[in-house]
Amino acid sequence: MRAWAVVENDAPLKEIELPTPEPTGTEVLLETTYCGVCHSDLHIWEGRYDLGGGKVMSLKDRGVVLPLAMGHEIVGRVVKLGPEATGVKVGDIRIVYPWVGCGKCAQCLSDNDNMCLNGRSLGVYQNGGYGTHVVAPHPRHLVDLGTLDPAIAATYACSGITVYSAIRKVLPLPADEPIVLVGAGGLGLNAIAILRALNHENIVMVDTSAEKRAGALKAGASKAVDGSGEGVAARIIEACGGPVLAVIDLVNGTGSARAAFEALRKGGKLVQVGLFGGELTLPLPLMPIKALTVQGSYVGSVTDLRELVALAQSGAVPALPVTTIPQSQANEALMRLRDGRVNGRIVLKAEAA
Ligand SMILES: [Zn+2]
Ligand SMILES: [Zn+2]
Repeated sequence: MRAWAVVENDAPLKEIELPTPEPTGTEVLLETTYCGVCHSDLHIWEGRYDLGGGKVMSLKDRGVVLPLAMGHEIVGRVVKLGPEATGVKVGDIRIVYPWVGCGKCAQCLSDNDNMCLNGRSLGVYQNGGYGTHVVAPHPRHLVDLGTLDPAIAATYACSGITVYSAIRKVLPLPADEPIVLVGAGGLGLNAIAILRALNHENIVMVDTSAEKRAGALKAGASKAVDGSGEGVAARIIEACGGPVLAVIDLVNGTGSARAAFEALRKGGKLVQVGLFGGELTLPLPLMPIKALTVQGSYVGSVTDLRELVALAQSGAVPALPVTTIPQSQANEALMRLRDGRVNGRIVLKAEAA
């Protein structure tokens, strides 16, 4: 197999030749057909996250080994089954759930693989969709996309379920209760689409860019709030008609997290999704007095993926703009993402597609 791999952090991806994996046990070998280019690929490529206060989390220390074919938004065609793999056949096209774990613990066995303490995520800890082939550990990690456009369905494996899982954490709420979204990038537009599909009506988008705010309103947000400068929390509260029960912070930087937290009312919940980086200082007495929740949300479960695919198959989720680029130009795609030259999502299209 070939892969467009990270050989060295911060250096261009290199095309390398690797032995094509032989599926054993319950494993399934697939030929990559499509793979989304995710913003977190940039962090993996750089090899670090900013934890605020001058602290940095190194991905090497977290067990990421190079060379690595990144790519966790994978659609592929089944080419070979391990002797114990059942439920799929050669030629089937499937979304590959990438957030796999050890496969043995209680979390993994209850379809909460993304909460496993020994994560082995595809495209992070094992080779992913920037390669011509990929191994799914078990057929239950493969989700039938039906008649969905595979380039769009690929993005459900990360950007889709990340948003879906975060939304699940603030629901149920009455349809007219404001849900505040911070960040009108790809995830934010996705969140609007999914909230609308779930019949939620009151969606308030916060973003620093006037252009992105306009885009959010066009995509179905009820109101848009300027997230730049001072007074962001006050503007959120004003737009919502009072302090809020639910904020999903898709940016999650020092400034956005503080504004989101300050906008919460009694019983409010801040769900943190973004990986922008920084830190949040919590005024401790307010946590119990206001019975607040600050909860991180990491991608989603394979159940989330199945539910989201079913929702999309019902036609309720409008398709996001996707640009396809040949898989062999993975490095160019990554650089376009780094430089912000992306409208919607870039999806690599493999020769096998
Ligand atoms: Zn991702
Ligand atoms: Zn596990």
